[in-house]
Amino acid sequence: MKVCTIIGARPQFVKSAPVARAFQNCAGVEEVIIHTGQHFDSNMSDVFFDELGIPKPRYNLGISNVGHGAMTGRMLEGLETVFLEEKPDWVLVFGDTNSTIAGALAASKLHIKVAHVEAGLRSFNRKMPEEINRILTDHCSDLLFTPTETATRNLENEGIPASKVLEVGDVMQDAAHLFGDLADQSNTLAGDLSIDAGGFILATVHRQENTDDPMRLRAIVEGLSLVAEEIPIVLPLHPRTRGKLEQAGVKLGSGIRCVEPIGYLDMLALERKAALIVTDSGGVQKEAYFQGVPCVTLRDETEWTELVETGWNRLCPPSSGADIVKAVRAALGTTGDDVALYGTGNVSQVIAEKIASFYG
Ligand code: UDP
Repeated sequence: MKVCTIIGARPQFVKSAPVARAFQNCAGVEEVIIHTGQHFDSNMSDVFFDELGIPKPRYNLGISNVGHGAMTGRMLEGLETVFLEEKPDWVLVFGDTNSTIAGALAASKLHIKVAHVEAGLRSFNRKMPEEINRILTDHCSDLLFTPTETATRNLENEGIPASKVLEVGDVMQDAAHLFGDLADQSNTLAGDLSIDAGGFILATVHRQENTDDPMRLRAIVEGLSLVAEEIPIVLPLHPRTRGKLEQAGVKLGSGIRCVEPIGYLDMLALERKAALIVTDSGGVQKEAYFQGVPCVTLRDETEWTELVETGWNRLCPPSSGADIVKAVRAALGTTGDDVALYGTGNVSQVIAEKIASFYG
């Protein structure tokens, strides 16, 4: 049985790593990895393959740096050609990027079965490109692996038959467990940055709704710069955000230790040591909770509502620097409820075995 796994963006490398390991334990399953090329810099792509032992992609479509329409269109065309060549039994897609929808759509038009990991997430904000990608991907998938009860309910509310849905928990939790010890052993970044455990905030910003809105971007920079006068902030800067800051001529405050995007092991190690995480990332919100670190999310809403409900995360729409300072001060030193929100581990094995169960 052949499974073609489509990945292209940083969070998909992290999500696919434990699943690829699990497939290696499933007799009779051949996984062929296809990289769309959406993220291509060595620190946004190669480092994840090296550190996480993800098998080398058989194909790299090299599609990046174009608008949403052109990117999705070219991916559709490229993936269709690969699928016709490889003739997979299943196509596996992760999350909510252009690579996700292109993989799902190309496969379903060729009547190839589609499995979607991280199905059912909704922000209910259709201005987000990710929201459109998720909805469409879910509706052309044959097997939908949901991370939470809320996600399962969202699918039910949209009329997706329960027989296609399997609530498994979150694969990113598997990744954090699998690589946590390695991250602790190998990490030197905190030392290089001269920061002490518990004595800094880790921040990431990359969502289009924040980077492409000059008012929000300025509010975020102002808020983080003010916070960094009280406690250092480490900011691994996403290329999109760097570009937008340069374009707008916005400078970061001197207390912000701005670094290039870092590898997953460095990221895990910093997350573990941080006093607080400030982010607009979907994955990083959850990773804060995995590491028992409070989180402030710079967005109007989140798909991971259970993190807010249990006190691990608080939303702070970035409308002013002062609001961000207030939210950070309120969140520092807090913890949330002691509950297992994303399953009990082994999610990747369950996913791989479920797909493998269709073999023969
Ligand atoms: N990440 C990383 N290095 C960084 C920033 C993020 O390894 O400099 C990891 C992070 O730990 C998480 C994933 O990238 O596993 C999240 O990706 P991102 O924030 O780009 O996307 P999102 O989760 O918002 O879709």
